[in-house]
Amino acid sequence: MAAKKDYYEILGVSKNASKEEIKRAYKNLAKKCHPDLNKDNPQASDKFKELNEAASVLGDDKKREHYDQFGTADTSASHGFNASDFSAFSEGFDMNDIFESIFGGQASSRKRRSSRGEDLGYEIEITLEEAAKGVKKNISVPKHEICEDCQGTGARSRDDIVVCEHCRGTGVYMRQQRTAFGIFQTSSTCNKCGGRGKVIRAVCQRCHGNARIKKTKKIEVTIPAGVDSGQRLRVAGEGEAGDAGYGDLYLIITVVQHDLFERDGDDLKLEARISFVQAALGGEIDIPTIDGKVKMKIPVGTQTNTIFRLAGKGIKNLRGYGSGDLFVKAVIQTPTKLSKQQKDLLEEFDSLDKETKKGLFDKLF
Ligand SMILES: [Zn+2]
Ligand SMILES: [Zn+2]
Repeated sequence: MAAKKDYYEILGVSKNASKEEIKRAYKNLAKKCHPDLNKDNPQASDKFKELNEAASVLGDDKKREHYDQFGTADTSASHGFNASDFSAFSEGFDMNDIFESIFGGQASSRKRRSSRGEDLGYEIEITLEEAAKGVKKNISVPKHEICEDCQGTGARSRDDIVVCEHCRGTGVYMRQQRTAFGIFQTSSTCNKCGGRGKVIRAVCQRCHGNARIKKTKKIEVTIPAGVDSGQRLRVAGEGEAGDAGYGDLYLIITVVQHDLFERDGDDLKLEARISFVQAALGGEIDIPTIDGKVKMKIPVGTQTNTIFRLAGKGIKNLRGYGSGDLFVKAVIQTPTKLSKQQKDLLEEFDSLDKETKKGLFDKLF
């Protein structure tokens, strides 16, 4: 942190602003430029960091005093701030109510850094028919579950969880530091208990104190109609186990290529081969759809590569906006093996065919 910044200016408060005013100013600005709410503005993230830095100093009486006196925030060791580093001012401010107001009550972590387990990804392949109709699948997910023997404490028994003597159960280790400016009291997370305030005297035999056990869990998942390749479906609470609950499981969908249908969003495309006789005379042909066969009319004189639309015969929209269409491209097949009789008939037809031959090369000659 080379450049000196005016933290009061950043927060838009006066030099003698109260802690309450600083907190309010920070809240208002943090809401405006939180990176999650400003995904298309890369500067928001820098601005947010700057705000956090300013608030972490001015929100802390000792740091503020030092800053006012010396114009820098470096009390002892300087450390870089980043958007996720809230520990610096967790005492002065309650981040939870800020996040509550930003994210609508999603604050899960209180003082102690207990965290939810990690999210997991699971790749799953389904057929086009399954994607069209929705499907239930049984999957086996290797993951960590909370140990049942110790209920996730990691201890052999309840009595084996005892108060940490190092921090006397506070989770915080206080230390006095004598410097040229006087005596500072610094606090850090207790390294004996990791801030929990409690230690385990004897560990659980089953999980060896890990509190979690690696398992392969069988889960039935419901894949809704309309999903497409590359989409992620969240299965809440089926991720890894953490101190404060389970993470989520994300199904990463791949819809395998179909032999007949080509998919384009909610629409399907299909090529239907028709004989030149059907093309010329018109008629009705059977068309496979994702829901079984339907009859489709071919008008008299259909040209090759003509596309017909069967409304609503595509894929159901994932969000419930109806269904896509099925586009059928009629491709005329020219016969390659003809019997003597067929040849004779075609030659006879040819001698009568004035329409096709007339004008074939008009433009060239
Ligand atoms: Zn401790
Ligand atoms: Zn255990």
